[in-house]
Amino acid sequence: MKKSTIKMQKLDAKHHLHPFSNFGEFSKSKSVHVIEKSAGVYIYNSEGQKILDAMSGLWCVNMGYGQQSLIDAANKQMHSIPFYNSFFGTTHPPAVELSKLLSDISPNHINQVFFTSGGSEANDTMIRMVRHFWSIQDKPEKQIIISRKNAYHGSTMASASLGGMKNMHKQGGLPIPGIVHISQPDFFGACVDNGGQIDSLEFGLKIAKELEYKIDELGEDKVAAFIAEPIQGAGGVIIPPESYWPEINRICNERDILLVVDEVICGFGRTGEWFGSDYYKIKPDLMPIAKGLSSGYLPIGGLMVSDRVSDVLSTYDDDFEHGFTYSGHPTCAAVAVANIRLMQQTNIVDTVKTNTAPYLASKWKSLSEHPLVGESRILGTLGALEIVENKENYKRFKEGSKVTGICRDYCFKNGIVMRAVGDKMIICPPLVINNSEIDELVEKAWKCLDQTAKEIS
Ligand SMILES: *Cc1c(COP(=O)(O)O)cnc(C)c1O
Repeated sequence: MKKSTIKMQKLDAKHHLHPFSNFGEFSKSKSVHVIEKSAGVYIYNSEGQKILDAMSGLWCVNMGYGQQSLIDAANKQMHSIPFYNSFFGTTHPPAVELSKLLSDISPNHINQVFFTSGGSEANDTMIRMVRHFWSIQDKPEKQIIISRKNAYHGSTMASASLGGMKNMHKQGGLPIPGIVHISQPDFFGACVDNGGQIDSLEFGLKIAKELEYKIDELGEDKVAAFIAEPIQGAGGVIIPPESYWPEINRICNERDILLVVDEVICGFGRTGEWFGSDYYKIKPDLMPIAKGLSSGYLPIGGLMVSDRVSDVLSTYDDDFEHGFTYSGHPTCAAVAVANIRLMQQTNIVDTVKTNTAPYLASKWKSLSEHPLVGESRILGTLGALEIVENKENYKRFKEGSKVTGICRDYCFKNGIVMRAVGDKMIICPPLVINNSEIDELVEKAWKCLDQTAKEIS
């Protein structure tokens, strides 16, 4: 290893606390990967190794690395006005342009946006806005937000409470009051629990109906909103059965609650449509966005607001007491504008739908022939492999996350980034990935599975 790499690893271990990491172990191991460069769908570590980034950074580099127009947009904006706020009756061209573009590409009934620096802040904003929405209609009792187990909505106090990850709730006294969780449509998990295949459509309906029962149990007059990701991302790429979303739509239409669709991962082309809501024909009242909004080049997020909600909010004759220094940050907004324009000019969403997603799906599905893979599923460019001990009776490994941890380490060795989540290996490659890069991705995935199988046997 290069001396410079070892030096960087030592300093990192000494001074840098990493998100979602074991601090003690991390500071002892001194083996952190130092990522230095990037181009297209590849990253390069400090040893010069070329690595196919099948996770798009962290679900966000949708347009791939090295896009000149995004780099130029940041540079140009920093020269004119790098920062100004949007409080107290001011605005600036990038925020105006981005709001208009977002209104153009989002569903017709959504025409406004409240900017944040990321997805967590978007979800915190959502909770305050939803409760305010009901309160100004003389329904201050409508406070409860229904979310789902294993959901990921961010890492602040409120957004981690919305999330359904038990390990996160264990630390810091979460969840905050007024948030309840129902089941997620984890079809493969249900097959595991049953020791065999069950009917997916029936299962999807059953899980969706939990929302109806929960609303009845709590009282419609107490429930403010339901929040869900179209496809659960960090929870392990949980793709719902086809019966799930239509039933959720029906329930939300019949009940007087708001539907919040967290588009932080599914937005900006992931499913082969602009938004996951377009793919599943969902009509959200609110849509948190982030990640792919700027392809991750600069931190920016937002809460997209439907006419139904904004019409009510605008009747309130005082301030909405909420905002962030960096709401609509000009440089971040300029990069997001450049990103969306690039997506439009290159027709990338259509390419994903007609070429990338079908080709990736055909290749990715072939991984289900591997002895370790109980299911390989994919939608758009979001894919998962369920790692099992026995495919015939859906038996998982006793310590599945150890097995996927081994697999993830082989991924790095073989020059590919996949993520391990519990018993799953997941991918979310940049939308700009081409067919030969997809071939490389799937060949490497197979090789890593083989090496994992060998090591554990
Ligand atoms: C990543 C993520 C968030 C949180 O976004 P941050 O920018 O990390 O705060 C929220 N919702 C979903 C679905 C996410 O994947």
